[in-house]
Amino acid sequence: GFTNDSGQPKRQEISFDDIGGQGSAIKELKEALDFIKNESEIKRLGIRPLKGILMTGPPGTGKTLMARAAANYTDAVFVSASGSDFVEMYAGVGAQRVRKIFQTARDTAKKQKKRNAIIFIDEIEVLAAKRGQNSSHMEYDQTLNALLVEMDGLKVDDSVRILIMAATNRVDIMDPALLRPGRFDRQVKVDLPDKAGRLEILKIHTRNKPLAADVDLNQLARESFGFSGAHLESLANEAAILAMREGLKEIHYRHFHEAVDKVIMGEKLERQPNQ
Ligand code: ATP
Repeated sequence: GFTNDSGQPKRQEISFDDIGGQGSAIKELKEALDFIKNESEIKRLGIRPLKGILMTGPPGTGKTLMARAAANYTDAVFVSASGSDFVEMYAGVGAQRVRKIFQTARDTAKKQKKRNAIIFIDEIEVLAAKRGQNSSHMEYDQTLNALLVEMDGLKVDDSVRILIMAATNRVDIMDPALLRPGRFDRQVKVDLPDKAGRLEILKIHTRNKPLAADVDLNQLARESFGFSGAHLESLANEAAILAMREGLKEIHYRHFHEAVDKVIMGEKLERQPNQ
């Protein structure tokens, strides 16, 4: 099922400062969120509410972090699910789950006396592939329709204002109906970080780690071409583990260096079955 933050041990809150190398994506996202915050102006000018933001880009680049930071920024409750949670063998179950997640968002917000809720749907392409493309599965159509109906029903003066943030790395196969104005009409690209971005991310993930004087994060950023944020997080973690194995109090450059190879190897091993 999907998760929300109520009744769970308080998860660490994510802010935009915890996300590296995504300056322009964050700027765009914040603009959209600031727009939402400006409720009285939106009403005065008769602007329709912003309902959906679609984040596109490769895995591990921080799309989930962006959604969590957005919830924090707008003081919203955060409810999340993956597209595959809605795919069921039995007709109507997926659609039911779509309605349920909107209800969960509203109930959780009311309980916590919050005005805003963000529903995050990862891998949205699983439920939102072009209709007809999954023609053997009428079920997908019903599920997608349920999502469209829910989104179309959102109003400026709903007592709980819902924003849907979705993530995909396959925007090309998404049903255009979802991208129409009034649905996911904002798209934010969350790409692999460049060298400066990798440095920012490395700094974030070594904030709480004792580094030896020989650790040159700049050099590491240069050497980790093609790494995602998730790779870099794992790199920092692996390096710390290597230092611990040697019984050292600090992490040295060679640990990071070795960890680069480990992360690349891990990636290759993970991919092998598909090749
Ligand atoms: P997926 O599409 O595979 O779910 P994602 O884009 O949602 O990936 P996240 O789940 O946000 O990626 O990232 C996974 C982990 O990688 C994060 O919890 C964080 O530790 C690290 N990470 C990813 N991107 C960044 C970033 N831009 N800055 C800092 N850390 C990052």
